[in-house]
Amino acid sequence: MPEVAPRIRRLGDDIVNSYLVEDGGQVVIVDAGVPAYWGLLPKELAAIGRSLDDVRAVVLTHGHSDHVGYAERARGHGIPIRIHELDAALARAEAPNPAKGFGPTRLVPLLSFLVWSARKGALRIPKIQEVSTFGDGATLDLPGAPVVIHVPGHTPGSAALHFPGHDALFVGDALATYAVTTGRHGPQVAPFTADAEQALASLARLEDIGARLVLPGHGEAWRDGAAAAVRAVRATVETSA
Ligand SMILES: [Zn+2]
Repeated sequence: MPEVAPRIRRLGDDIVNSYLVEDGGQVVIVDAGVPAYWGLLPKELAAIGRSLDDVRAVVLTHGHSDHVGYAERARGHGIPIRIHELDAALARAEAPNPAKGFGPTRLVPLLSFLVWSARKGALRIPKIQEVSTFGDGATLDLPGAPVVIHVPGHTPGSAALHFPGHDALFVGDALATYAVTTGRHGPQVAPFTADAEQALASLARLEDIGARLVLPGHGEAWRDGAAAAVRAVRATVETSA
């Protein structure tokens, strides 16, 4: 499975992303994808000379089930789960999904996503029993010292994570470079967004982050910087208005 950048790897394919970030011999996982990815972890960690014992935390960009994935499995191995305080209840499956329907869809990509999800175990996500939370602006005491940027809209507690030493910004579903519901590629508002207007407004919080690498929850890595990614999302809205 691919190395996205030095010290960053992606599990599985780029329909649903889960990332490993290595720093100083330790690892942080950003988003836990789907349950089937758990089986890929040992090999991916071995590829960078690490094991499960080196994983310090799973940090979730938000509480949607296709990001929670194998988190409870990881927690069972003593790995703490971290998430923004406003999405903690969603991650523990104690709050309903705030998404309003699917948004626009095209039948073939949507059906293939649903079939893919079922095969990867996404219809039965083990509920996370316990999470610890963070707020906007926090620098997490984890490998890579990620900085939290609250970007509400997709969900109330959506958060981007900036790893300055990796020149990388993990955006979760604050924007996507692939829409599982339409098959469309390129930066755009992600499907299943609770409040698209708020999600667009939140992008202003990302555009001044100098990171070159933008890593979304769904789709390929964007390598032209956060500002250009934000501009590209806005352009999709202007042309469809
Ligand atoms: Zn989501």
